Amino acid sequence: MIKKRVVLTFPHEIVSQPVVYHLVKDYNLMINILRARVTPQEQGRLVVEISGRKKELETGMNYLAELNIDIQPLAQDIKWHESKCVHCTACIPHCPTNAIFLNRDTMKVSFDKQKCIACELCIPACPYQAIEIVI
Ligand code: SF4
Ligand code: SF4
Repeated sequence: MIKKRVVLTFPHEIVSQPVVYHLVKDYNLMINILRARVTPQEQGRLVVEISGRKKELETGMNYLAELNIDIQPLAQDIKWHESKCVHCTACIPHCPTNAIFLNRDTMKVSFDKQKCIACELCIPACPYQAIEIVI
């Protein structure tokens, strides 16, 4: 059994297709959806953990690639630069695990590395480049 955590980016024309259903039914894969952002007529994004046998995982990934779904592994690590952060909270709605959150006592943004799954969803949301991928 192999387990992968990936970010899937869907072109807007296929966001309404039952892609996850086919991965489960046709490729015998287990899908754990960690985060979904799907808006009709727009690009969709899923952060998923996919488990299955090597061969079925490969054919399932090929199925996604044929649909022009972009597949990116989750980043190795994420660093939050407190000194660059202006506590604007723009990143918070994008975080699926509350790793980056508003501390209500101080009304400042904080980062809990233990909760971060390195999905990268917060990075484009930050106008101040306060969050970066560490390879
Ligand atoms: S990468 Fe950003 S959005 Fe993803 S879990 Fe970590 S802090 Fe949250
Ligand atoms: S978007 Fe950037 S500057 Fe704003 S709170 Fe998040 S990390 Fe800080």
